[in-house]
Amino acid sequence: MPHRPAAIVSAMHEELRALLPLLNDRHTVRLAGRDFHHGVIHDQPVVLVLAGIGKVAAATTAVLLMHAYDVGQLVFTGVAGGLAPGVEVGDVVLARQLLQHDMDASPLFPRFEVPLTGRSHFDADAALTDALAAAASRSAGRVHQGLIVSGDRFVASAVDSNALRALLPDALAVEMEGAAVAQVCADFGRPFAVVRTISDRADDTAHVDFARFIEEVASATTRSIIEAWLLHQANSVDASSPVR
Ligand code: SAH
Repeated sequence: MPHRPAAIVSAMHEELRALLPLLNDRHTVRLAGRDFHHGVIHDQPVVLVLAGIGKVAAATTAVLLMHAYDVGQLVFTGVAGGLAPGVEVGDVVLARQLLQHDMDASPLFPRFEVPLTGRSHFDADAALTDALAAAASRSAGRVHQGLIVSGDRFVASAVDSNALRALLPDALAVEMEGAAVAQVCADFGRPFAVVRTISDRADDTAHVDFARFIEEVASATTRSIIEAWLLHQANSVDASSPVR
């Protein structure tokens, strides 16, 4: 029986463009305004797709991948703003946990808790994240692992990033999609991981750093991590791997 495909979801065109040339036996299916590119990278069946930006776009994409394409695991790639001290532009951050920093149904529910789930933090899959961490350590610069926070806001001022740091001192980085994917994958019980390259420090120069960085480095970093990960998967014969 063939492996269930792994989904590799990009937030940005530049990243998808960097990954598409790796894809063999490609065929594309259009659904809900998105192009789902099916094929094989290093003998691994994969689906590549551009999610769009923000929590709703990411959640819609994740649901389609689970329900229409029955993917075995999902890796979300993109860039993020560094929050914690020492998380600098060019570093890679892997999520161990994710939280929606703009979720606030207080006083009905504790701040950040997703109503009716009883949780604010959603865990990324440990084995998949370990495998990506190993790939990142072989192919990228400094790698951090821990809490990534997501919300429908591009955080681009020192005032806003200081406020987030004060509220969520464990947060390594901020972006706009990961925690939405985490909630969907928890509902479906499917493994997922989030790997982000730091494009800015979520401060007053974030918009300048962001634009420059995307063009220059982020897509290449994502591509080398994903390629190293799939190559390693292809070479390993672990029958308990979630893709099998
Ligand atoms: N389309 C615009 C803006 C992209 S929004 C452009 O291309 O210029 C920023 C994207 O990068 C989102 O996908 C988000 O997940 C991530 N991101 C990077 N830095 C961020 C920050 N400081 N705050 C929030 N999201 C950030």
